Amino acid sequence: MSSSPGDQPESRPDTGQSSGVLTGGCLCGAVRYEYDGEIGPANYCHCADCRKSTGSAFNIGVRVAARQFRIVKGTPRGFTKTGDSGNTLTRHFCPECGSPLYTSSPRHPEFFYLKAGCLDDPAVVHPTHQNWTRSRVPWAAIGPELPELP
Ligand SMILES: [Zn+2]
Ligand SMILES: [Zn+2]
Repeated sequence: MSSSPGDQPESRPDTGQSSGVLTGGCLCGAVRYEYDGEIGPANYCHCADCRKSTGSAFNIGVRVAARQFRIVKGTPRGFTKTGDSGNTLTRHFCPECGSPLYTSSPRHPEFFYLKAGCLDDPAVVHPTHQNWTRSRVPWAAIGPELPELP
């Protein structure tokens, strides 16, 4: 495909969020979290498990340091599955509203992978690449020719 995640225009000035505390949570507000570490690279993932678990065409995961991430309200529920890659992943979601929040992997206990959309300010996320593009659905690419409704 001709478009890449890095093509997104920088429409917002630097909010300074990267050096402060990032906050986020689920749709209903039962689960809230804070993160005061460096925000890591983000990627689009087109794998089938990400489609199923998000209900969308792809997931956007943001790597964060597990020891600087804390749940400040509620208790996420985890669901563990072995993916096509052979890696066992636990996806954590709100037990009340079902919103996907983050993923953990026993292979990399030092990281969590936040769902970009559950951040209060997702503009701080900078996707750098796409994974599992061989599983991408034909309509998953967001064409720049599409009209934008602000
Ligand atoms: Zn919720
Ligand atoms: Zn995936």
